[in-house]
Amino acid sequence: MSTVEKLAILGAGPAGLTAAIYAARAFLAPLVFVGPSFGGQIATTTEVENFPGFPEGLQGPELSERMRTQAERFGARLIEETITRVDFSRRPFHLWSEAGEYQAQAVIIATGATPRKLGVPGEDAFIGRGVSYCATCDGFFFRDKEIVVVGGGDSAFQEALFLTKFGRRVRIVHRRDQFRAGATLQKRVMEHPKIELVRSTVVERILGNGKVERLELRSTQTEQRWTTEADGVFIFIGHEPNTQLFRGQLAMTDDGYLIVDNRLHTSVEGVFAAGEVHDNWFRQAITSAGFGCMAAMEAEKFLDH
Ligand code: NAP
Repeated sequence: MSTVEKLAILGAGPAGLTAAIYAARAFLAPLVFVGPSFGGQIATTTEVENFPGFPEGLQGPELSERMRTQAERFGARLIEETITRVDFSRRPFHLWSEAGEYQAQAVIIATGATPRKLGVPGEDAFIGRGVSYCATCDGFFFRDKEIVVVGGGDSAFQEALFLTKFGRRVRIVHRRDQFRAGATLQKRVMEHPKIELVRSTVVERILGNGKVERLELRSTQTEQRWTTEADGVFIFIGHEPNTQLFRGQLAMTDDGYLIVDNRLHTSVEGVFAAGEVHDNWFRQAITSAGFGCMAAMEAEKFLDH
């Protein structure tokens, strides 16, 4: 039988790593399963300028590395494994990776969410070079530039309004002629002098030389294709929380986000959640870090009792 860990943390983005720092400093020696992408979404961001304490800004991967060093300094153990199966029906909880079986008295789930991708040529190649999934993170780099926002929901509309602070013009490209965004946001967008709506249109390809320069668009009504100039493409077509693994074991919303109480307890006592795996609203590195701190403090209290 494997040894029983006090605390297992799933995920090593800002939420998981902050939970690891707090738990390690409480002598819980947490075992952190890094999962498929160390650092989470922040590690795919280039310049991070809004994380307090770094007035000059720093690169996303560097921020993750600094958090890892800090967690390890206090005794957190990070392992490059992904948990693929869990059993939360008995204690200690059981977890399996491809490498083996683990047991833990408490678990913090910080597996995050993945921005939905368009899946068009050029999208992956230009991430951080014109393609972004976070206006708060990257809007600043598009001062006086041509910005295209993709999506027709609240996120697309709200972020398009935010991006008008920076862009020379902001065009919202949406695949239908009806929008999902709420009426108030729609009104504000339609009245904004810098925003143009491009309806019934999809992005077919993202083009450029080292950075985004043009988009190939297609009308879903006429099938006509054309190319348009763009420096930044902000994609807001929803997120997928990484919770597939917990289906049937933990309560979740219809969209798959874990349901937590205001102290981040999930529906199973001893299992906590932190970050975008439950929060589809704030989605910032600093808020996820805050949730990681809260979850670790609650896990510590749980283990004390
Ligand atoms: P959402 O409401 O699911 O909207 C996603 C949008 O992306 C939809 O317009 C959808 O088009 C489009 N889309 C999906 N897949 C696409 C694809 N493959 N290609 C092109 N377009 C695609 O997601 P969200 O805007 O991120 O909002 C998530 C939740 O947070 C919602 O409940 C929202 O109300 C809430 N929220 C609220 C606010 C606020 O200020 N009130 C702000 C942000 C988020 P279709 O419409 O054709 O399906």
